[in-house]
Amino acid sequence: MKITKLTTYIVPPRWCFLKIETDEGVVGWGEPVVEGRAHSVAAAVEELSDYLIGKDPRHIEDHWTVLYRGGFYRGGAIHMSALAGIDQALWDIKGKALGVSVSQLLGGPVRDSIRVYSWIGGDRPADTAAAAREAVARGFTAVKMNGTEELQFVDSYEKVEATLANVAAVREAVGPHIGIGVDFHGRVHKPMAKVLIKELDPYKLMFIEEPVLSENYEALKELAPLTSIPIALGERLYSRWDFKRILSEGYVDIIQP
Ligand SMILES: [Mg+2]
Repeated sequence: MKITKLTTYIVPPRWCFLKIETDEGVVGWGEPVVEGRAHSVAAAVEELSDYLIGKDPRHIEDHWTVLYRGGFYRGGAIHMSALAGIDQALWDIKGKALGVSVSQLLGGPVRDSIRVYSWIGGDRPADTAAAAREAVARGFTAVKMNGTEELQFVDSYEKVEATLANVAAVREAVGPHIGIGVDFHGRVHKPMAKVLIKELDPYKLMFIEEPVLSENYEALKELAPLTSIPIALGERLYSRWDFKRILSEGYVDIIQP
């Protein structure tokens, strides 16, 4: 079997899909995209596609390694999202060619179901509380919300209190046993993160996400000891090498690859 063609499809407002075709008629689909950079990722797929034409699509690991290591510059949001979309499409082809699901090829299913949270957004306590109640009514046992608007390097306690009021309203709306994740989106500089993370402790959150940006990861050494809430991070990390330090140092409790 040989790869004959790669085609990307930009779907507004933010998606990009990839179709990989083969000479045996088996077609694989992947999603090479990162928000706001769909065209850049599609261009990266185009740059990587020369290598793939004529190759056997079933040699997935070999292709991944060449496409990752073959260039002088490696990694980052664009390159890794392009590579991920290609990887998905190649696995899709392999599964279809063998007549089995990809989960079977990767070792078989581990769960029949998985707990998920619902994003509830909302910046005002009344909105978030109502959205949280609605999510719980739909059967969710966990929700995730915005932590805060942008905080300056050293900001006012008024904004901290607004965040606390928002979280308190959600906790009150859903009761003590629903999981609440609070996403800081890396919008909080370390001095205010220290304040906020400590103040959030009484609300028994499921996790705090990106209390600082991944590139300021070293700040977590100071922040993690200030709270008993699990810390989540990783949606802006793109490879096992990006996660190496996170895993070895142990300040992050939940990784979000
Ligand atoms: Mg996030």
